[in-house]
Amino acid sequence: MEYQIAVIPGDGIGPEIVTEAMKILDRVGEVYGHTFIYKKLLMGGASIDEYGVPLTDETLAAAKSSDSVLLGAVGGNVGTSRWYQGPPETRPEAGLLGIRKGLELFANIRPAWLYKELADACPLKKEIIGEDGFDMVIMRELTGGLYFGERHTTVENGVRKAVDTLVYDENEIRRIAVKAFEIAGKRGKKVTSVDKANVLDSSRLWRAVVDETAKAYPDIQVEHMLVDNAAMQLVMNPGQFDVVLTENMFGDILSDEASEITGSIGMLPSASLGKTKLGLYEPSHGSAPDIAGKDLANPIATILSAAMMLRYSFDLDREADAVEAAVQQALTDGYRTGDIYSEGCKKVGTREMGSVIAGYIK
Ligand code: NAD
Repeated sequence: MEYQIAVIPGDGIGPEIVTEAMKILDRVGEVYGHTFIYKKLLMGGASIDEYGVPLTDETLAAAKSSDSVLLGAVGGNVGTSRWYQGPPETRPEAGLLGIRKGLELFANIRPAWLYKELADACPLKKEIIGEDGFDMVIMRELTGGLYFGERHTTVENGVRKAVDTLVYDENEIRRIAVKAFEIAGKRGKKVTSVDKANVLDSSRLWRAVVDETAKAYPDIQVEHMLVDNAAMQLVMNPGQFDVVLTENMFGDILSDEASEITGSIGMLPSASLGKTKLGLYEPSHGSAPDIAGKDLANPIATILSAAMMLRYSFDLDREADAVEAAVQQALTDGYRTGDIYSEGCKKVGTREMGSVIAGYIK
């Protein structure tokens, strides 16, 4: 099969890590008989330099017309870069919001799993991690809730008052619940829906719609958990989770908590999905301007993002498994970039890590 991939290297370490992800995709193509055709696009600071804006209509149209989008990272040093002199909508990160909105992506998926080789980086106690570690994905609704509801600040009788509104309609909840059940079907077959249904109406609707949706997926176990309990359970017993489904703000907070307990930001991929198979795949970390251009960046988060693309946009599960197994093999054999290095391991740069992983794809 032939797949058209829009590739947005972005800024900082973006071009270096995306190059390694393409190396991996090319190897997958060779071994499994697929062709990946790349269309390179500019976004963020690179687009500001070339076109004066972080995302052009042409770039968005080109991304929309592809089968999927692979993104490095955007942004520069916020304190010193010339990209940050104008208002927020002219800055590199505005490109990110623009492309997510333009591609109508409403579900953000961030896996958090622990490789036993990197268990020392995990801040949790060994007895909590257990033998098997953990392997979950946090599914966060991206386009509704408190961040998009009506808001205003007023002064009444000399007292300042601010209001934010948390709104969801049942269609917004249903479409992400469907995604969560579909993804659980490809993984551990369990969905934990997180809400605050003991207090919030929006959460009671969320819970009801998740239960209605669950009826179409009898092989998937569904449970509900209050968000305060979920925050505790993540650090007390992370192994219990498979797919954690939640609204925008709860997801924002819980996904950062979940990535923190893995201890290695350079390892964590992410995907943003919409109604169609077109998705946006990017590492969870930023553009790391402090190490850009030095062959120091860990490309694994981006490589695993490419694996998510194979799985979720192209339904190439076997190929995605092969990429994940190759990453695992590289770690088992002791290859480490600087950010995950520990004594006795083999320290490698960005390019060598990519080549080692590519070599393990069988
Ligand atoms: P960051 O994730 O870029 O870096 C935080 C720290 O982690 C740095 O010390 C960096 O060197 C290290 N790091 C990150 N990724 C790494 C990797 N793959 N390998 C090795 N080390 C890695 O976060 P930041 O410093 O807060 O932000 C830098 C820039 O990135 C800012 O302009 C910010 O706005 C932008 N940003 C972009 C995205 C995105 O494109 N999705 C996300 C977050 C931040």
